[in-house]
Amino acid sequence: MKTYSVDAFVLRMRPLGEADRILTLFSAEHGKLTAVAKGVRKTQSKFGARLDFMARSALTLHAGRSLHVITSARLIRTAWERVVEPELYSLASYVAEVIDGLCEPDLAVPELFDLLTEFQSATAQTVADDAAAPRSLDALRVVMELRILSALGFAPELDACARCGTALGRRPFAGGKAALSPEAGGLVCRRCLDLGSSEEGDTRRSFLIVKLTSVQFEVLRSARDSSLEEGLTTPAFAAPERATQAFVQHHLGRASKALAAAGGRR
Ligand SMILES: [Zn+2]
Repeated sequence: MKTYSVDAFVLRMRPLGEADRILTLFSAEHGKLTAVAKGVRKTQSKFGARLDFMARSALTLHAGRSLHVITSARLIRTAWERVVEPELYSLASYVAEVIDGLCEPDLAVPELFDLLTEFQSATAQTVADDAAAPRSLDALRVVMELRILSALGFAPELDACARCGTALGRRPFAGGKAALSPEAGGLVCRRCLDLGSSEEGDTRRSFLIVKLTSVQFEVLRSARDSSLEEGLTTPAFAAPERATQAFVQHHLGRASKALAAAGGRR
């Protein structure tokens, strides 16, 4: 495989030397890839905007001994040129950071590639519809987080206790609120919650528990099957973002830099 072609999104860009960039790509064919774009930082680069953040392009790569080099690029979707809304840009940065952080290199995850494609279409539409209106994208972020986690096999358990397996259906939860534990992998029933806090010497006592009201929990459950368009129309006040964010952070093993940057700007 000296030369190969991929359909890929640009997740991340880092400068290399005077004029080059190292790109982290997410491709349909091979999942996450790292490749060099030579001369891309020169004003007269042959690549133009085809290798910008979150651009989707058809690329040809040459597999060198240590690095893969991009030899040609054809832009598939230009919608991101219009991403000037700070909220949308920080959401896109967050999505790129999470996918980069959670994916193994050279492992195709078609569901994630399709999700990025859907994300690009849904958000391009938003920008077109509503260019001047500031909006909250919290509910869309929740849907994205759940879909990313689910594509990677990390979907939170929301129907049964993640510790003991008891089906929880619509029963009231501990203290009238749903208790979720990223460490346990989802909902935790009242019994397991009490058990966790009373066992002597149990290091799990310090586990993070996120509590949601029944309204927030129902939004979380329905977000599992929501399209991104539905995410865009869900009122932000009901978004259970504390919960999904805690699950993402647990799998990332750290807090998101993109979210911290967005929070600092607000
Ligand atoms: Zn339980």
